[in-house]
Amino acid sequence: MSKVLVIGAGGVSSVCVHKMAMNAGIFSEIHLASRTKSKCDAIAASVKERTGQTVLTYEIDAEEVPALTRLIEQTGVKLVVNLALPYQDLPIMDACLAAGVDYLDTANYEPKDEAKFEYKWQWAYQDRFKEKGLMALLGSGFDPGVTSVFAMWLKKHKLKTIRSLDILDCNGGDHGQAFATNFNPEINIREVTAPARHWNNGEWVETPAMTIRQNFEFEGVGPKNMYLMYHEELESLAKFVPELERGRFWMTFGDAYIQHLTVLQNVGMTRIDPVVYQGKEIIPLQFLAAVLPKPETLGPTTKGKTNIGDIATGQALDGSGEKTFYIYNICDHEDAFLETGNQAISYTTGVPAMIGAAMMLTGAWQGEGVFNIEQLDPDPFMDMLNTQGLPWQVKELAGPLEF
Ligand code: NDP
Repeated sequence: MSKVLVIGAGGVSSVCVHKMAMNAGIFSEIHLASRTKSKCDAIAASVKERTGQTVLTYEIDAEEVPALTRLIEQTGVKLVVNLALPYQDLPIMDACLAAGVDYLDTANYEPKDEAKFEYKWQWAYQDRFKEKGLMALLGSGFDPGVTSVFAMWLKKHKLKTIRSLDILDCNGGDHGQAFATNFNPEINIREVTAPARHWNNGEWVETPAMTIRQNFEFEGVGPKNMYLMYHEELESLAKFVPELERGRFWMTFGDAYIQHLTVLQNVGMTRIDPVVYQGKEIIPLQFLAAVLPKPETLGPTTKGKTNIGDIATGQALDGSGEKTFYIYNICDHEDAFLETGNQAISYTTGVPAMIGAAMMLTGAWQGEGVFNIEQLDPDPFMDMLNTQGLPWQVKELAGPLEF
């Protein structure tokens, strides 16, 4: 029996829970808890209708560690899958330690009052998980997640070393809204407005947000402008691929998105410090998030594809000199919606979260302590991507990116 508790009931959670129910042989009992129980119930109803499986639902504030510990104990699960927000990572890890169960997430911890994400807070749990004989798996989404597994698969099967790595994240989908983010707006805007950072010869190079732009032809999507950004897997890849000389992350944005974001920034709506409004403190970005379309409502109207992957250059395993490989997945928004009722950004995150959980529950991935996904064998995860809706392709390029 492999019982699992999923926390959070947004778009990513919805996909993950649907896919768990479609793999009932692995996930024998699914529990779902979030701040708003009605959202859990809506997911459970959709899962019932689509798969016939039952999902048990609960209301929980994941920042209340004793209450969450009690819930974990009451459900008797072996694993907690955290699909709430990065702010809840540490309290959920604390509750897992107290209840003696394993932990998985898709985004690293970020303090609420500072737009800064780093692994240091979660890496600090290493000894506590080890001492209890428990496993915490960090970053099992698409990016972070699949992009790191792609890099490690290339390192296992194609390249002895990775000298340079570019992660290219393209969302070619159109949701028909003037401005909307395709995952949690607050987290998305904090990420996009942060300074860009890339790894270069052993150090971080920082450049102002959204200032370095290149055009790239994405298969299945077409030519798109992509911007250099900082993304959390660069930190873990720089650690676990020690020979890496240059690591960069690029994300595509349309001109309309950039224009809206620039105006919102200029008028102060993306600020995360409190502002007094009618005698009450509000955080402008949280207020903005409340008025923007909810990512989970974009599914019915979003058309187009995502294309996310890695371009890696290094010495070939077979001794044939320096080689460059491009490994990527293309996901169709409408197909994702048809299968789970959610658009492709939630789909490309929720499916790898389910696969990571399957790796842990089946024992394909085992360990004691805190692990980034780069530290585990990529092969069984890559196999499941192919069978669970995120097939990947790899091709050799003539050389690394020219820019
Ligand atoms: P949503 O905002 O749609 O969902 C988040 C859910 O968490 C909501 O149901 C929310 O409840 C719940 N929640 C928030 N705070 C608490 C709390 N204190 N206790 C319990 N539940 C809480 O986000 P997404 O589904 O878009 O994203 C989920 C996670 O996935 C995020 O951490 C995001 O950063 C990550 N992500 C990772 C990606 C990757 O590729 N690695 C890509 C995209 C997202 P309520 O609705 O009541 O507010």
